Amino acid sequence: MKNLVKRRNFFKQVSAIGLIPLLGSKVMANTNSLQNQITTTQKEDDLSIAKLEFIRLTGTSGNRSIYATAETESGVKAIYGPIDDDAALLADKLMSKKVIRRNALEHEAIWNDLFDSNRHSRGSHFLMGISTIDNLLWDLKGKIFQQPVYKILGGNRKEVQVYGSCLGFSQEHDEMQAKARELKAEGYTHQKWFLNSTSPKDGPGVLAENVEKVRLLREALGDDADLMIDVLFNWDLPYAAAWAKRVEKYNLRWFEEPVPSANLDAFIELSRETSVPIATGEHFYGRWDVQKFLKEDAIRVVQADPEWCGGVSELVKICAIASVHGAHVIPHGHSLHAAMHVVASQSPDVCPLVEYLINKMNGNYYYFDKNPPRPVNGKLTLTDRPGFGIELDDSKIIKKETITWRDL
Ligand SMILES: [Mg+2]
Repeated sequence: MKNLVKRRNFFKQVSAIGLIPLLGSKVMANTNSLQNQITTTQKEDDLSIAKLEFIRLTGTSGNRSIYATAETESGVKAIYGPIDDDAALLADKLMSKKVIRRNALEHEAIWNDLFDSNRHSRGSHFLMGISTIDNLLWDLKGKIFQQPVYKILGGNRKEVQVYGSCLGFSQEHDEMQAKARELKAEGYTHQKWFLNSTSPKDGPGVLAENVEKVRLLREALGDDADLMIDVLFNWDLPYAAAWAKRVEKYNLRWFEEPVPSANLDAFIELSRETSVPIATGEHFYGRWDVQKFLKEDAIRVVQADPEWCGGVSELVKICAIASVHGAHVIPHGHSLHAAMHVVASQSPDVCPLVEYLINKMNGNYYYFDKNPPRPVNGKLTLTDRPGFGIELDDSKIIKKETITWRDL
């Protein structure tokens, strides 16, 4: 009955704006099917979120991962993960009840309500929780419309270029050069290496060694590859400035997190002292952190993480802010599903790359994922499956349990 009333109203509206006379029989048939789609997929009650749960999977190898799941009243299911324990804890304890019975398409309103719901919402773990809910809602939206997330976001890039993040590889000179060459031959023409194992407290000798490593990497990669350096906020401003001056001639694409991103002044100072572009952002929480750095010209590359910064919805806003400042957004590679869909939805002028943490991602991180994102010749291909295209490989799961924040 409710459907019939809606259908009548729909044709009243079409007729009222004068479309009926213009519709031939074929168009009318299409209109009927479109109208049926509207009433069947977007009916308010059907879109109500009936369930939001967290599941912990234990695998045949002993691996364990947590995924967030949701289901609408009409049975459309969403999944996002693997997610951090802390994100699941906050999302379940403080947020899931506020999402139940909401319309699945209201991601923006839900985000704002969650953000307004707690005086500590503007940082760290709370935004990790919001990120989980937001990413799950984007998967749900994809499942409702049967489209991949990057297309719903308006993008059309079928593949995205990765940069290889070389955390964990040997830094013994010969081995490091051999690995850099090998990775380049595999298609990693953009590589980031880590110089965090030494710091200013190790004395001036290691500064020269950290300069020498850059020389060796540039020699191995040649001039037709991008080289970036990350020090995992392990240095201090004078040391970082001295090192940066000495490596300017090796043409780094960026120098990442010399100091903790809490120290905006140090980033401002360093960016004034060197021509090497400075990067940070994996610990940015929300668009406001990003704007503070960009308006001061403190960085050229924003590395916000869609599982930490506030989710896909927030990362899209961050891209808009960065585009105004002429900065790049190259999301942190802690996890890939949300990051690669946002990158694929944006102009390559704004989002040219996505991070691929080679050892982590090629290891067991996506153990339960039937189709883990894997680059071929340095590129990740976007899925045609709806949402983020995450499907669990049941053959690897020996235990699937629903958990609450009390289990974390
Ligand atoms: Mg980093």
